[in-house]
Amino acid sequence: MSKQQDFVLKTIEDRDVRFIRLWFPDVLGRLKSVAIVPAELEGAFGEGIGFDGSSVEGFSRVYEADMVLRPDPSTFSLLPWRGETDPTARMICDIHSPDGGPAPADPRNVLKRSLAKAADAGFTFYVHPEIEFYLFQSGELGGAVPVPVDTAGYFDHVNGGTANDFRREAVQTLEAMGISVEFSHHEAGPGQNEIDLRYADALTMADNIMTFRAMVKEVAVEQGVYASFMPKPLVGEPGNGMHTHVSLFEGETNAFYAPGAEYQLSSIGRHFVAGLLHYAPEITAVTNQYVNSYKRLWTGHEAPSYICWGHRNRSALIRVPQYKSGKASSARVEYRGLDSAANPYLAYALMLSAGLKGVEDELPLPEEAEDNVWRLTDAERRALGIRSLPQSLDHAISLMEDSELVATTLGEEVFDFFLRNKRQEWASYRDQVTPFELERLFGSL
Ligand code: GLU
Ligand code: MG
Ligand code: MG
Repeated sequence: MSKQQDFVLKTIEDRDVRFIRLWFPDVLGRLKSVAIVPAELEGAFGEGIGFDGSSVEGFSRVYEADMVLRPDPSTFSLLPWRGETDPTARMICDIHSPDGGPAPADPRNVLKRSLAKAADAGFTFYVHPEIEFYLFQSGELGGAVPVPVDTAGYFDHVNGGTANDFRREAVQTLEAMGISVEFSHHEAGPGQNEIDLRYADALTMADNIMTFRAMVKEVAVEQGVYASFMPKPLVGEPGNGMHTHVSLFEGETNAFYAPGAEYQLSSIGRHFVAGLLHYAPEITAVTNQYVNSYKRLWTGHEAPSYICWGHRNRSALIRVPQYKSGKASSARVEYRGLDSAANPYLAYALMLSAGLKGVEDELPLPEEAEDNVWRLTDAERRALGIRSLPQSLDHAISLMEDSELVATTLGEEVFDFFLRNKRQEWASYRDQVTPFELERLFGSL
């Protein structure tokens, strides 16, 4: 038993924990959970807990269905929303194959591999996300459109409103689980909120995002509302972005910081941004993985559509934010493409690979885009060398299919599964006859 495992066992006894939930992400980043009783835990730390992987999205083919969950003791936490009566804890798990090694389909393992590669080059990858979501009156639709809990907008204070109490409750719950929050506010859409987490290394953060999404949904249930991370749930209103600020550290030193340089961004920072811009089209199928994601990207509302970077420019895919001059630890860049429904493990693995490849190949940073790129004509954008993000899931899949960077980063198994799954999603979508078509065409054709 390791020290951490001992600590977990002891805490479980001291706090009289009755259930331990073992959490893990499937390949699409949806949370899976199995509960064990404390008596099983030593075994779980020893040989792991076997489960049938064939029923989990992306895990294994039916003929090699057995998989093993290995709880990571460093992720141990009590679940505050389960209360004092039946204390429940959770740990996030690695997935192993029955013969021992990490399962190739485990998204945590994909991210760990990318982080190890960065570590070989001397870098730690830090991220902090701004997570947007909507609060609706109910999760039951029965064919109707969802109804937001309020009509407030950006930074609005909602008097006695659900969303204010909601954020307080959510932030307290996160802090109780050791997840620090930096900022929270009402977002631009009705019922839309944002909570920004304090930066952490990418693996911890991906775990935190899984916890965040589960927790926000729990708190919503308690308050009789419904939380949705769907990329674009409402026509004519903003979508749910998960802008992520990223930086590389070499030990204690922020490798993106160069006092005196333009925007105090070092040459490593500039190459990293160049890498992200270069590979953005290929990684978008993962950072924006649903048919619905492209309705966020292509309807304005401050979601990016074009591949460029800027300083104050909120139409750019990447923003180099203003930070307190001389505060080296805050030097970072903001990738604004990904949405709140992404699998954070895979998305962060790809963003890291793309940025690092830029550093490795010393890719030159294109000119900064100063204009609002949405207002330019296609010809003007072309003249400036500004490409577009993929316009649909179908388009994104076809760009990902040819990507060596994505294939190597995800590994063959995840790459194949992901493409298969997404092609199916696109094919089912293409089969639909939507209310839009019926409204426009049925009465007149
Ligand atoms: N909701 C916008 C998006 O989808 C972002 C708004 C903001 O700048 O925070 O990316
Ligand atoms: Mg926002
Ligand atoms: Mg932002």
